[in-house]
Amino acid sequence: MMETGGSSSVATKKATLTPKAIIYQKFGSEARYYIEEVQEPAEYGCPGLAIPHKGPSLYRCSLQLPGISVVSGTFKKKKDAEQSAAEMAIEKFLPSLQPLSGHLRAALQREGDLNGLVPVSVMAICDSKLSNLCKFINPKVESNPFLVIPLIMRAAARLSGILATSEGQLWIRRQNPYPREIMESSISQPSGSPQSTLIEAVCIPCSSEKAVETVTLDVSSTGYYLDAISKKLGLTDAANVLVSRTVGKTSSETRLYFAAHQSCMLDLSSDPLTAKEAIHLEGPLNESLSKKGPLNERASYFSGHDIYGDAILASIGYTWKSKDLSYEDVSVQSYYRMLISKIPCGLYKLSREAVLMAELPLAFTTRTNWRGSYPRDILCTFCRQHRLSEPVFSTETTPIKAPSESPACGKKLRVTDSTEEEIEHEKGCARDTVARESAESAVTYQCGVKLFSKCQDLIVECFPKDSFKKQNDSIQNTSLKVLSWLNAYFRDLDMTPEKLNSTANSLEIRFCEKNFSKEFALCRSIHNVYQSETQGAKFLDENHISMPNTLPGQGVFSLNIDGPDSGVCPSNGCLLVISYSVSLVTESGYKKVLESSDEFEFEIGAGAVIPHLEAVVIQMSIGQSACFKMDMAPKEFVLAAAAVSARNLSLLSSKSCCLKYSLTLLRVTEPLEERMEQALFSPPLSKQRVEYAVKHIRESCATTLVDFGCGSGSLLDSLLNYPTTLEKIVGIDISQKSLSRAAKILHSKLSRNTDGNAPIACVKSTILYDGSVTDFDSRLCGFDIGTCLEVIEHMEEDQAFLFGDVALSSFRPKILIVSTPNYEYNVILQKANLSSQEEDPDEKTHIQSCKFRNHDHKFEWTREQFNCWATDLAAKYNYSVEFSGVGGSADIEPGFASQIAVFRRTSPPDEDEHLKDTDSAHHYKVIWEWNRPSTYSS
Ligand code: SAH
Ligand code: MG
Repeated sequence: MMETGGSSSVATKKATLTPKAIIYQKFGSEARYYIEEVQEPAEYGCPGLAIPHKGPSLYRCSLQLPGISVVSGTFKKKKDAEQSAAEMAIEKFLPSLQPLSGHLRAALQREGDLNGLVPVSVMAICDSKLSNLCKFINPKVESNPFLVIPLIMRAAARLSGILATSEGQLWIRRQNPYPREIMESSISQPSGSPQSTLIEAVCIPCSSEKAVETVTLDVSSTGYYLDAISKKLGLTDAANVLVSRTVGKTSSETRLYFAAHQSCMLDLSSDPLTAKEAIHLEGPLNESLSKKGPLNERASYFSGHDIYGDAILASIGYTWKSKDLSYEDVSVQSYYRMLISKIPCGLYKLSREAVLMAELPLAFTTRTNWRGSYPRDILCTFCRQHRLSEPVFSTETTPIKAPSESPACGKKLRVTDSTEEEIEHEKGCARDTVARESAESAVTYQCGVKLFSKCQDLIVECFPKDSFKKQNDSIQNTSLKVLSWLNAYFRDLDMTPEKLNSTANSLEIRFCEKNFSKEFALCRSIHNVYQSETQGAKFLDENHISMPNTLPGQGVFSLNIDGPDSGVCPSNGCLLVISYSVSLVTESGYKKVLESSDEFEFEIGAGAVIPHLEAVVIQMSIGQSACFKMDMAPKEFVLAAAAVSARNLSLLSSKSCCLKYSLTLLRVTEPLEERMEQALFSPPLSKQRVEYAVKHIRESCATTLVDFGCGSGSLLDSLLNYPTTLEKIVGIDISQKSLSRAAKILHSKLSRNTDGNAPIACVKSTILYDGSVTDFDSRLCGFDIGTCLEVIEHMEEDQAFLFGDVALSSFRPKILIVSTPNYEYNVILQKANLSSQEEDPDEKTHIQSCKFRNHDHKFEWTREQFNCWATDLAAKYNYSVEFSGVGGSADIEPGFASQIAVFRRTSPPDEDEHLKDTDSAHHYKVIWEWNRPSTYSS
């Protein structure tokens, strides 16, 4: 029989080094692999047909090592053929490294009656060739590896001349004594007192009421580790222990060990091929194997097949790497880390090494700002953890509509291999070539993903409409949507189907309810992480912050922020660096640090940390420290974060216990836009905008100015440095935080000016309003000059149109200056930013993948779009309009970095008088007001 589709022979060994890796270690480049394509005869060949009918391609690999060579069977994939050849070479020439030979050696050291008995369950696990063969006999072996056992027993019983078996006992022994050489080589330990090794493992009791506990395995150098495990399980010998496939990290030997029992054998008989044999086995097995206990849900969840009775989770075994037994301690903490790594947000938390702090971000903004594992990787790991097939991504490209393009490019293209990234252009291009190239590669990507079960049943699919300039970004975005939905499910496992459905709809996800609940059946009882047993906020005080979007029963209390306000505060899209620690504290003064970091970086506003922390940090400025308390986090997270002793374990459920967070805000990195504007323009683009405004103020001899969307007051502040005719300046914004910062800055500037230190400006009054520039307020009517710098792109497009209408029809300033980014210029900003920084090649794609200059931008217009907007407005309301800009030049493509429109009122002034009188229309709130003391005003 041909060994087709033998990829699983490789999968079992991923646990340690692959055969190819071992061959490489031993032989280096002396090992040569030759792949040969083998054509399988077409099944439904049609003799005489002129077109050759091709069957599927298969591959065979011959491996040549110095002096020897082996040839593999045929496989669908080249790499499987290579691994198979490598495996054959190891078996032939390095038999002592076969995991099974480790068991054989140990079996030969067993004493008395047990001498030489090899448990069949280890053969099922270690002998991939055997289990592969069994898959052909019974395909169900794929999902239930224990089905291999009766097949081996049956084969062994047939070879009764060579092998000894005992009815109902799951072991095999050679009939005749082993040759002396083998016996001798198996004794690795010279005579003397046997040393013993203590290995930490955990017991997962069958009853989920009982806590997972540490157990210590005492493995003596001459004993068999499976005997030590069987003893812990209360069984007579290793033959009664079943061994699961590896669980957790793919590189570890972590497995579950549990009692073989009769019902497990009865289940096996369901296969017609083995039914006869099973009946034969059934009787005697009844006597020696334990009765089927209740399902061990936790262990079954980890292993992916049903496990009954108590189980032991241990990382121990023989590997392909060395002759010796390899092992690692498995602690209660490792158990909980494995448990939370089964849920998307847990995987993210672990990748950030911040179990109590990090959260799976709500949106994929840019790759530059993303910290921790990428969504696509988390999704792939999630699928592996839940024994689903690898996610299937599909991306489509759509050319950005450009008039010069040929119609043939207008079709949607299917990109078949989603893993292939487009090759980037070399950096350091001249400006004009940059612009041209970007026009050529002007396509956007949309990505969809499907998740299938191992049996290829569709479980979830997600096809978001979002399009991206980078294929990779579209993949990350789609992956994150699926993860968010899965996360919502794990967060609230009792969610009604309607709610699950509406959550799915909002994320552009569709799922098959039947297949989904089949695959995730066990989750409900295992992951109740968010149904925390804690009861609401305790010892509340006036510092309590209420947060509508937080988890039930989890509030922040006893908040304290210390240190002088440096005025440098985080805003959305910034990257923050904090140092922090989280401790377990009790009212009686007990304290234990669970988690801490000297430098932890995250993006603010993206939900990348627990909401409580984000709510606190947004109130802080650089250099300040904060302290707050919170209700106990879910036990699973606390236990995954730190090794907690038995004493503390009982604390976790006590009412007097809570978590204390301490943090210091160390650094804030501005969003991309600010960094670029500062690095690439001299003077910085923002300063150029101010200078532009000052020029117009001077020319117009304006005495009154209103700054629409003044933000933190950077324009108003700078204006005060220049001698102008301005007497009254007004700022308006919707962000109270920005306004209060503006007030602080203006206050210190203006009071300094009155201290006799040469007042530069003769400004008499300053007012800051809280309100939206799309709402009318009569107090802003008829100003000499209005400015609206880099604001409209922060509104939805329809709001930007509304602002234009309100400003020119109702406020009617004599001059209105509006600036906004020129979208066409982005390509230069991004390219230049790259060549000015020596960063890792990945960073290159990060910056280019940024859609707009700032995450808060709702749109960025081309010159044409901006011209249309401004020209239409001007025509509608009797204004003239002139276009200009700062950064770059009007004559060199692609124009200015910031494009500016200057509107001038052309209608006679008396028409405006009636508007000024409508005092009743006061929709803005005065946030801060300053008037020059009378002594200076005269
Ligand atoms: N003009 C400032 C700030 C630009 S940032 C400067 O050049 O530095 C954009 C500002 O627009 C933010 O402060 C934001 O709060 C404000 N903004 C956005 N939509 C607004 C609206 N509808 N009304 C008033 N301000 C708005
Ligand atoms: Mg902006």
